[in-house]
Amino acid sequence: MNVAKIYLASPRGFCAGVSRAIDIVDVVLKKHGKPIYVRHHIVHNDHVIKGFEKRGVIFIERIEEVPQGSVIVFSAHGSSPELYNLAKERNLTVYDATCPLVTKVHLEAKRYASEGYYIAYIGHKNHPEATGVMGEVPKDSIMLIDSLRDVNNLKVSASKRMIVLTQTTLSVDDTKLIVNEIRKKYPHAILPPAFDICYATQNRQNAVKELAKKTEIIFVVGSKTSSNSNKLRDVAVKQGIEAYLINDKTEIDPKWLEGKSIVGVTAGASAPDELIDEVINYLSNKKTVVEEITTIKESIIFPLPKNL
Ligand code: SF4
Repeated sequence: MNVAKIYLASPRGFCAGVSRAIDIVDVVLKKHGKPIYVRHHIVHNDHVIKGFEKRGVIFIERIEEVPQGSVIVFSAHGSSPELYNLAKERNLTVYDATCPLVTKVHLEAKRYASEGYYIAYIGHKNHPEATGVMGEVPKDSIMLIDSLRDVNNLKVSASKRMIVLTQTTLSVDDTKLIVNEIRKKYPHAILPPAFDICYATQNRQNAVKELAKKTEIIFVVGSKTSSNSNKLRDVAVKQGIEAYLINDKTEIDPKWLEGKSIVGVTAGASAPDELIDEVINYLSNKKTVVEEITTIKESIIFPLPKNL
């Protein structure tokens, strides 16, 4: 391995929603003591999850698994109203770590459905964020669009008003293609005032495009279950660069680096800094130069919920 230069994307790693969700679990643990329950992985990062498990957090998928009267945190990805009702029935103390930018999409879905709009929701099948948004409105007022092909299955009368909403962590470019396809079929379909793909997703994708201009290979630190991390890898590959999504340094195959000396490193919104640092240390020798490429400075912070 002979890496002469490492370009580091900035922004990379934790976004405001992930930092807030992790802080919420931390504060709830200190306030109530273990065990506490978290519905779904609080953020999609294996290292974060293992760290919390060691401290007494029990991650569950079904509310029915939580003993009556326990403390539960709902994950950053958002949850459907049905889950809040189930938690109430079991007399659970609920803390909500839903990212405020996901909550915004929930509110949009509810508002537009109540005004009679049909919702074309661009998102991933079985992703908790998509399930949460879909659960906010009657089934016959929304359809999940996971790919361009799904647009063919939209069978809504042309006279019906339509709104396009999206999951927050998609590829900006792919989503624009799907939106254009929907608008070809339904020219009257509208977008919400602000595109729902979140600032962190957009900024990290812009940054990885800059990284791709200067590097021979890119490593994206993040878990395979992380939507925004997968998209970062996809964006890099679409720029014509070899790119790998890795949980940590142990997943780097030295063969990938044969004949390459200029490496790019970035990280999904749920990847902790220490994993990124470990990757940089692993790739570096005494002569390696590390340079950050900053495309935008982020300063967004979300406050903790009022009940904490
Ligand atoms: S990626 Fe965006 S929507 Fe998801 S938690 Fe971070 S800020 Fe919120």
